[in-house]
Amino acid sequence: MATVSLIRTGNDLYRGLTGVIDGTGEEVVRAGDTVLIKPNLVEPKAADSGDITTPGLIEAVARYCLDRGAGRVIIGEGPSYYQPESDLRKCFTRTGVSRVAERLGIDWVLFDEHAYRTFRGVPDCPPEFRVTEYVFNCDCLINLPVLKTHFQTTVTLAMKNLKGCLKREDKPQFHRVNLAQAVVALNRIIRPTINIIDGTPEVIGSIGNTGRRRAGAGLLIASTDIVAADAVGCALMGIDPAEVDTVALGARAGLGESDLTRMTIVGEEVKCLEFRVALPREHLRQSFPGLEIIGAEQACSGCLIPLISSLRLLGESGKRLRKPFHVYVGEEPRGYGGEAYLRVGDCALGDDGEVPHAVSGCPPDTKTLLRRLAEAMVD
Ligand code: SF4
Repeated sequence: MATVSLIRTGNDLYRGLTGVIDGTGEEVVRAGDTVLIKPNLVEPKAADSGDITTPGLIEAVARYCLDRGAGRVIIGEGPSYYQPESDLRKCFTRTGVSRVAERLGIDWVLFDEHAYRTFRGVPDCPPEFRVTEYVFNCDCLINLPVLKTHFQTTVTLAMKNLKGCLKREDKPQFHRVNLAQAVVALNRIIRPTINIIDGTPEVIGSIGNTGRRRAGAGLLIASTDIVAADAVGCALMGIDPAEVDTVALGARAGLGESDLTRMTIVGEEVKCLEFRVALPREHLRQSFPGLEIIGAEQACSGCLIPLISSLRLLGESGKRLRKPFHVYVGEEPRGYGGEAYLRVGDCALGDDGEVPHAVSGCPPDTKTLLRRLAEAMVD
């Protein structure tokens, strides 16, 4: 039976981390191991944004490994496609993660600067894609995602965090197939030793989620069963795990347990800690009732992060749409027309090139996108 350890960290993060790992009953790190820590450093956001794994937790995990005699500890990540290639290192330097590595005398690596292994013909995946060699060359892989929601997949927890192991150029292709199925297929290839979900920030991150209320702070979830860890993460946020495709499909694929009644949860009780997050789609519907985003299922984060973040900013500043408005993104649109629409990103432009009602680019320029969306709104 799957075991999931759930604790409140209190003021001593290292002690909390040790406690949550001990709760799983597993010996995660052995003397001499090469350990890869894979956090979520999607963007160079603030440590307490809820959008990235907190550098404090990354440091605690690295110390834990060193204290248990790990031979080598590496912090590795391949940030979002949304970041221009020239900015990828900033996801380590601006977040303070590079300083964590310096303090501890360990390495941090941007996967994109190192070797990848090529996969072809994997069912449910793009025809060809590359996965960082680091995940195959370590003795222990510690998957360290953050507790947050997601516009497309409802949540982004341990299973989806492994998408950061793909080569940057291959990430958009995963959005052109069924994303949840592709994430599950990727989870068959990359098998973390343990998954520790960071619920320590006081806010729940997500692109487009303005439900930034104090909720679920100081929590850690750990399990060697990646599906079970995600299922508990969903339940904590008030989301039924059965309704989340990555979790349901992961269980069906035999990757783990999704039913909370069929797992052992040690430490805290989920029902005592659960809260309700505002999902990004719900929030957008409330802020902009006349807005329809068409093609989002095929769009990658390169378009979705600037689009949803811009809408969030405009909504928070009290802007409202002048009239019903359509945004086309992610694929060559059909049936667009009239005045009140915008095509976002080169995928939505097809072969049309520079045309009115469009923001070109792959990914599109955030400032231009914000300005064009604002033009469709009133105070
Ligand atoms: S145009 Fe947008 S959706 Fe298409 S690949 Fe580029 S960033 Fe992704």
